[in-house]
Amino acid sequence: MGMVFDIRRYAIHDGPGIRTTVFLKGCPLDCWWCHNPESQSSQPELIFRENRCIGCEACVAECRNEAISFQRSAFGGQRSTANGLPPPVTNRTLCQVCGECAEVCYAEAREIAGREMTVAQVLAEIVSDIPFYDESGGGVTFSGGEPLLQREFLLELLRACKTREIHTTVDTSGFTAWPVIESIRPYTDLFLYDLKLMDDEKHRRYTGVSNALILSNLRKLSKAGQAITIRIPIVPGINDDEDNIRRTGEFLTCLPHRHPVELLPYHASADGKYSGLGKVNRLPGTVAPSGERMQMIAERLRSFGLQVK
Ligand code: SF4
Ligand code: SF4
Repeated sequence: MGMVFDIRRYAIHDGPGIRTTVFLKGCPLDCWWCHNPESQSSQPELIFRENRCIGCEACVAECRNEAISFQRSAFGGQRSTANGLPPPVTNRTLCQVCGECAEVCYAEAREIAGREMTVAQVLAEIVSDIPFYDESGGGVTFSGGEPLLQREFLLELLRACKTREIHTTVDTSGFTAWPVIESIRPYTDLFLYDLKLMDDEKHRRYTGVSNALILSNLRKLSKAGQAITIRIPIVPGINDDEDNIRRTGEFLTCLPHRHPVELLPYHASADGKYSGLGKVNRLPGTVAPSGERMQMIAERLRSFGLQVK
């Protein structure tokens, strides 16, 4: 069994061709710019999308733990449901994430992120699109969260995919013990390897962990001759400065092999997800970098002889 929070079909940005991307829940990092905050915890979580709520109160009646209430008297007209009524308030301390409120919410305002699935269940979804993979040179991508956090589950899935000759990609932060990476390597055709910040102190501040293990694993993976695409999220004010871009270029040109680089512009679309999970967005008001800025960063990295998209 593994904890999965989403399976997206027909993905075109997670590796070559048309892909099915399986998102595994749980991540050891805590990046400020995370655009999948529902991926961070290894446990299922309740998401409440206030803007979809019609104020029908069905969820209140359904919750056996009395975790949901309406506070109409406190309604000041600032926040309202699609029907103009105040939204229900969820006490997350009382919530047991049973999902029963989501079952009765026909407006789909409530949802449980994360469900346990067997290898066979995930595989059934993957194999159903084999004709698309064959036609487009695609396959399956395991992402997260950090997929390597569920090593046994991931390994079984990778093995099963390779048995069926499906191209496999693993999207990873690289923050794991080397033997874990080594164990999945024979069944992984391509790694999408995230590089965020070269300065260790900043890396600790903005992701919660040191980058030493990440850089060390990337060197080993490159030395092993593995196919790798480096992915760099560009977050304004955090890692888009000249010092970080220069040090990234220098590091990548010192690896045993040259690997293509993809730049991923920060986008603020996760704002609603944070509030829906009862979490705080630590980058409110941060806007996406302009296309011109992205081009400048790409050019700077190309000046190191790197292939940059
Ligand atoms: S969250 Fe759903 S079930 Fe609860 S009041 Fe809103 S629409 Fe009704
Ligand atoms: S998930 Fe279960 S416990 Fe939590 S608010 Fe909904 S019904 Fe109540």
